[in-house]
Amino acid sequence: MELLKRLSETPGVPGREERVRELILSEIGPLVAETRVDAIGNLIAFKPAGKKPPRGWAVEKVMLACHMDEIGFYVRAIDDEGRLRIQNAGGFDTRNLFARRVLVQGKRDLIGVLNPTGRPVHIATDEEKKKIPTMAEFFVDLFLPARKVKQLVRVGDPVTLIQTLEQIGDCYSGKCLDNRVAAWVAINVLRKIGKRSPCDIYFVATAQEEVGCRGAGTSAFGIDPDIAIAIDTTLACDTPGIDKADAVTRLGEGIGIKVMDSGSISSRELVDAMVALAETKRIPYQLEVLPRGATDASSMQRSGAGRRTITLSVPTRYIHTVTETCHVADLKAGVDLLSAYLTK
Ligand SMILES: [Zn+2]
Repeated sequence: MELLKRLSETPGVPGREERVRELILSEIGPLVAETRVDAIGNLIAFKPAGKKPPRGWAVEKVMLACHMDEIGFYVRAIDDEGRLRIQNAGGFDTRNLFARRVLVQGKRDLIGVLNPTGRPVHIATDEEKKKIPTMAEFFVDLFLPARKVKQLVRVGDPVTLIQTLEQIGDCYSGKCLDNRVAAWVAINVLRKIGKRSPCDIYFVATAQEEVGCRGAGTSAFGIDPDIAIAIDTTLACDTPGIDKADAVTRLGEGIGIKVMDSGSISSRELVDAMVALAETKRIPYQLEVLPRGATDASSMQRSGAGRRTITLSVPTRYIHTVTETCHVADLKAGVDLLSAYLTK
């Protein structure tokens, strides 16, 4: 819980992942033989095979991709009153952005308040109340004179939503569990497997996934793994107002084994292998078909000459809001299944 809390509360917009990268590096460093940061900002950690593969088998290279960036903003302009206009980096539903606290990484860290332009409910017209503002209508108020704001903040500074991680019921709820839960799963897998894996493992905390799976493509090209596994969140639409057939996954019913989304179709062989392992080890799982959305698997599958890929998905409710929620049992199932796969 303590590690997940730190992962969730540390900022890292696409392209400015340095703080969360440092945190992941400090956790993963002692578990691997080598670490490096590449040109786009991916953190690559190498853990060599700890035991010989079965006779007649070559040592396979397995890449684990966990994107470390989160949806956020960059300062786009500072107006004469010292209010910040922002550009989103990643897909927000603007209905979830009213009345939020944000962190502005200026010359020093500043807390601001995010709201759309316009009048408060008391004096808004019926028309105004119905309107859904566009991203461009939002601004950040730092409650400082313009002169002071301009000393502390520049165009291009990162802005992220503020939210603490809390345990609620059997779940963890907070911001950017998409995709900090993946780093949490992978770190726990590396701890658990010790020297028991017959494959060379490349753990990659990828950069810039939320703006088009950019870091995963370059790192897969560089590493050229035989097998690439993305760990990411997926929709758990098991909530009121959504047909059961559209749930995609259900919270607490096991780790998602992705069959397809709109970015990649998983290698059938890998899907079958994961299902067989989950069945024999009695690890709860659910098969996932996501009509729209993609993970790092999409670019790992296609970079260079391509490779077998799959995504393991952590079911997540209220995705891309600051109330993203994952179930403890699904996180445990994810660690168990990936550990079993990497040690078999
Ligand atoms: Zn994600």
